Amino acid sequence: TISMLVIDKDGNLTGGCTTSGAAWKMHGRVGDSPIIGAGLFLDNEVGAAAATGLGEAVIRTAGSAMVVELMRQGLSPNEACKTIVERIYNKHKNHKDMPYLQVGFIAVNKQGEYGGYSLRAGFNFAVCDADNGNRMEKPDFKM
Ligand code: ASP
Repeated sequence: TISMLVIDKDGNLTGGCTTSGAAWKMHGRVGDSPIIGAGLFLDNEVGAAAATGLGEAVIRTAGSAMVVELMRQGLSPNEACKTIVERIYNKHKNHKDMPYLQVGFIAVNKQGEYGGYSLRAGFNFAVCDADNGNRMEKPDFKM
């Protein structure tokens, strides 16, 4: 999945995402990316969030909508992403497919603060702003 979250100079937010879907998916499977609130969500009063990883796990938690909701309650983008990754981990930790589970979120709030968090290492995101140009970020991860 490739997602992009944008905040303009006036603080207006937008976002989009695209995905190839999960490997070896069943014909007709719908992942999280085309479902608003799962793979992508934004509220222009609060912030925006997007997900990658196992879509079924993201859908079950309404992951991106929850990240935005946690930012509304005052969590930083990093904290909000971490909270939902922890929630997904706790729901799946005893599942036989746990060794293959990866999920990650990115988020930006209305103030332009951004962050991300993933279940496992290997999830990076790029940031671009007028002051500092492009750079890669390696967010924290659980395991
Ligand atoms: N989230 C996508 C899906 O489950 C897969 C991915 O992130 O690559 O369809």
